[in-house]
Parts: sequence; C-alpha cells; structure tokens
Amino acid sequence: AKKQGRNNTQFYRPAMNEEALERLRIEGALRNALERDEFVLHYQPQVDLDSGRIVGMEALIRWRHPELGMVQPDRFIGLAEETGLIVPIGAWVLASACAQTQAWLAAGLGPLRVAVNLSARQFNEPKLPAAIAAVLASSGLAPDCLELELTESLFMSDVTLAVELLHQLKGLGLTLSIDDFGTGYSSLSYLRQFPIDVLKIDRSFVSDIGASGDEAAIVVSIIALAHNLKLRVVAEGVETARQLDYLWRNGCDQMQGFHFSPPVPAAVFEQMLKDGK
Ligand code: C2E
Ligand code: CA
Ligand code: CA
Ligand code: CA
Repeated sequence: AKKQGRNNTQFYRPAMNEEALERLRIEGALRNALERDEFVLHYQPQVDLDSGRIVGMEALIRWRHPELGMVQPDRFIGLAEETGLIVPIGAWVLASACAQTQAWLAAGLGPLRVAVNLSARQFNEPKLPAAIAAVLASSGLAPDCLELELTESLFMSDVTLAVELLHQLKGLGLTLSIDDFGTGYSSLSYLRQFPIDVLKIDRSFVSDIGASGDEAAIVVSIIALAHNLKLRVVAEGVETARQLDYLWRNGCDQMQGFHFSPPVPAAVFEQMLKDGK
C-alpha cells in the first residue's frame, strides 16, 4: 500500500483526520481555559537605546495547559481568532496587563508603558473604545501607560472606519503602534492619515543586519521615515550586539529582543526592574 501511496488520496486521510481532531480538541480546551485561569502573560522588556534602561514591555500570552505544558501563542491565537474566542481572551489580556503594570507603578518601579497586541476581531468590536476605557478605569492605569500594537492588515478593509476608530482610541490618551512594520501590503500613505505614535520594525529586517552589503538599508530607511513623521521607532527581534550597535548608531529609539531578554514571567520581569534601580 505504501508504494502506491503517493497517488492514493486515502493515504493522507488518517493524518488529516488527526489534525482536524487536534483542532477540535484545542478549540474545546480554549473555551475552558479562561474559566480555569490557564492563561498567563509573559513580559518582554523594551529598552531605550540611549539610556540602556527598561522603559516598557510587551505583554505576550501563553497558555499553561494541564497536559501540553506551556503552549506558545502561535499555536492557538489563529484558532482563537477564527472562533471569535480572541475577543474574551483579548479582554483578559488587556485587563491583566493593565492591572499588573499599575501594580508595578504603584510599587515605584516605573516609569513604564505596557504594549498589548490587538487582533482584527477585537479591532472590529464596536465597543472596543468603551471596553478599553473601562479597563483603564478599573485598573487605575494612566492611559499614556498603555500602548496598543496594531498590524497594518487591520486598517485595510475599511480605511475610513479605521481612521475614525484610531482617533477614538487616541482620544482616550493611548499610545498606538504599528506592529511588524514593513511586512503588510499597505501603502505608506496611511501613515499620514492615522494618528500613530510608534513603528515597530519587523524582526525579519533586523535579522538582516550583519549580513553583508546593503542588507540593512530597509532598517535605516524605516528609522528615517519614522523620525520624519515624528514617530518613535522600536526594533524587534534584536539578537546580537552587532545589531544593537547598528541600530543605536542609526538613531533607533528602542529595542526589544533576545539580546536583552526573551519574554519572561511577571516575577522575573519584576526582578529585572528592581535590579535596574
Ligand atoms: P509579535 O507581536 O510579533 O511578538 C513578538 C514575538 O517575537 C514574540 O513571540 C517574542 O517572543 C518573539 N521574539 C522576541 N524577541 C525575539 C528575538 O530576539 N528573536 C526571535 N526569534 N523572536 C523574538 P511569541 O510570544 O511567541 O508571540 C507570537 C505572536 O503571537 C506575537 O507576535 C503576536 O502576534 C501573537 N500574540 C502574543 N500574545 C498575544 C496576545 O495577547 N494577543 C494577540 N492578539 N496576539 C498575541
Ligand atoms: Ca507585537
Ligand atoms: Ca511584531
Ligand atoms: Ca536616540
């Protein structure tokens, strides 16, 4: 049977069934995960390149699954988006990131700004601005200590609506950043229309630094573009001292990456803040 397997659709069926089953299992488990309190946030420091100090952090979700162990977001965020579960999960992320940040600020570990990822489903929820205002009120976090990370793809379906929504969010006093900048299909013209504060250079461009020749030209161009538009620039995925040095010499404002620290549990991040004092 194996010999003819290549032309035999049946050959592939068991594997596909297993994949479908696995998805069903994960979807069912995702539905329970919030109630069972299985999600946790890890925090990755964002470092100011001039002072070398931690100025903020990105909150990144993990799923502490009773059998699978620590599940990384790439394995469940897509499914959470498809099923709409990302809306309650995202609300949990916002609430706990804001509460944790406010606790650190109250303990004198600031100034800090926390960056939270927003998915398309959340962005399209009509009540998003009101929900965020409620989270800020209940946590006591000042709006300018919260940064929302948005991807270019969120804006493209209805630009007029997106501009209006971004202005509403901006009106709350939040900081808005474009995540994975340079990887989307967008046109640059939106940068002038949208009230954005930060560009995050995607790590695929950062990893080109250190390769020969003009590989880093895109990074330099993004930094220049951002600064001409009065935006802050954060480089993502900085892994080497060479990349860090290059970014610093070219005026990049902040960096995030394994060279400084991977995302870490809250207790570990807290210790980093204390050690930096
Ligand atoms: P992202 O928003 O682009 O987050 C950055 C990812 O790059 C994180 O992966 C982080 O661990 C990883 N990273 C950071 N520094 C380095 C580095 O120096 N080298 C390399 N190779 N990787 C680095 P993570 O935590 O697995 O998250 C993956 C993606 O899952 C995120 O990509 C984001 O799109 C999504 N995600 C995570 N948390 C949430 C959340 O709360 N809500 C939503 N909607 N999406 C989330
Ligand atoms: Ca992000
Ligand atoms: Ca990113
Ligand atoms: Ca600088």
